[in-house]
Amino acid sequence: MESSLLIDPLVRQEIEGGAHAAINLCWTCQSCTTECPVNLATNRLNPMKIVRMANFGLIDELISDPSIWYCQSCNRCIQVCPMTVKPVHVINYIRELILQKNLISRDTYQQFNDLLRRFHRVRRYGILTCLKKEKLSLSAEKFNELLNTPITPEEESVLMDFSSELSPSLLKTLNDADTFSCFTCSACSSSCPVFLERPLFEPQSVFRMANLGLTDKLLSSTWIWLCIGCQRCTDNCSQLVKGHATIESLRALAVKEDFVPVSFASQLKEMEKVIYPYLLDEIDKLLGLPLKDTAQKQN
Ligand code: SF4
Ligand code: SF4
Ligand code: SF4
Repeated sequence: MESSLLIDPLVRQEIEGGAHAAINLCWTCQSCTTECPVNLATNRLNPMKIVRMANFGLIDELISDPSIWYCQSCNRCIQVCPMTVKPVHVINYIRELILQKNLISRDTYQQFNDLLRRFHRVRRYGILTCLKKEKLSLSAEKFNELLNTPITPEEESVLMDFSSELSPSLLKTLNDADTFSCFTCSACSSSCPVFLERPLFEPQSVFRMANLGLTDKLLSSTWIWLCIGCQRCTDNCSQLVKGHATIESLRALAVKEDFVPVSFASQLKEMEKVIYPYLLDEIDKLLGLPLKDTAQKQN
């Protein structure tokens, strides 16, 4: 039997109008999919497929697709798309639609956001393991223990040592990213998704420490590796400090000055292959995914 796919142009227009994602420009190059960190770690989130489904007007299929909830909003798909398509905007639009249809309660949605926030505790543990040159092994029990164990501010406190000096490499890094223009208003921190788990990471403090030359502490810490590169700090800085670029350069400096090996970024990718599947399973459990049956009942 032949099967055919009927494209609904009205639904497609509705998605485009709501999401402002320029989906019609997608030429299916797959850059978003090959760069998505969640997909790299799990093979379970395909932003190109989501954009493709939106272009076909497959709204019911999108609503019931569990991967809509796997996105970490790192904006990487937007940054790499040569056609200025914004896959994550489609994802956020579909999530909003699911909430409007009451397929997921606001309370459950709150718990979902809380889970994403606490997941940064597991990321920190994974990064620390890599910094200690140890191999990460994780069980579901350990994953949950990490999720449920807050990091105390004391664990991440910094002893100020003003004897530090700015090295020429650091000076160049900070000049290139306009980091010295920071006047500590904290707009970067307020917009940072990782800062939601406050004791772990604060972008404004990272920039401040860099400006004060506290490099040894910074370059050996988990902070510069906890950033997910979403660029919200840069977009929200009135002083035009390029926060994400500062952190990227600090990572390069950590490699150059032997705080971490050249292979550190790929070690982190391997570590993410261990931790992300646990997160996605937790999301499935929490939200009762897939939502298909409920979605069809609603229509
Ligand atoms: S990167 Fe852009 S053009 Fe390429 S598949 Fe993804 S959305 Fe489409
Ligand atoms: S924003 Fe979401 S879909 Fe896009 S690259 Fe990041 S995790 Fe993947
Ligand atoms: S790019 Fe900026 S806002 Fe995004 S995670 Fe990194 S520090 Fe936070």
